[in-house]
Amino acid sequence: MAKNTNRRKKTEDRIEKRERAMIEGILEGSPDGIGVVVIRLDCGCRKMAAVARDGEPASKLIIYRDLSDSVCDQCKNDNGSYMRVTESFIHWVDEPSEEEKKKIYLKVLGHEEVH
Ligand SMILES: [Zn+2]
Repeated sequence: MAKNTNRRKKTEDRIEKRERAMIEGILEGSPDGIGVVVIRLDCGCRKMAAVARDGEPASKLIIYRDLSDSVCDQCKNDNGSYMRVTESFIHWVDEPSEEEKKKIYLKVLGHEEVH
C-alpha cells in the first residue's frame, strides 16, 4: 500500500512478464540504450528495440512471438506492418527529461507518449 510507488507501478504494469525478459536481454546487449521501444501487434507478436538518448536505435529491431521460435505467418509476410500495431510505447530504464522523452517518442514512434 505504499502510495509513493504508484508512478513506478504504473510503468511496470504496462510490461508483461514475458516482455520484461526480452527487454532485459535487449538492454544487456545495448549499453547505449536508455529505454526499449515495445510495439505490440494485433497478431500477438512483438517488436522491440533499444533506443539511445538521441532517439536513434541502440540495438537491432527484434520481432518475436511468445513461446514460439518464429513469428506468425502474417508477420512473415508483412514484417509486422505498422498498420497492425495495437500499442506502442517506450519502457524507460534511464528516464530522460520530459522534453527529451517527447522528442524521442516523436522520432521513434511518430507520436507523443500516450498514457
Ligand atoms: Zn505476428
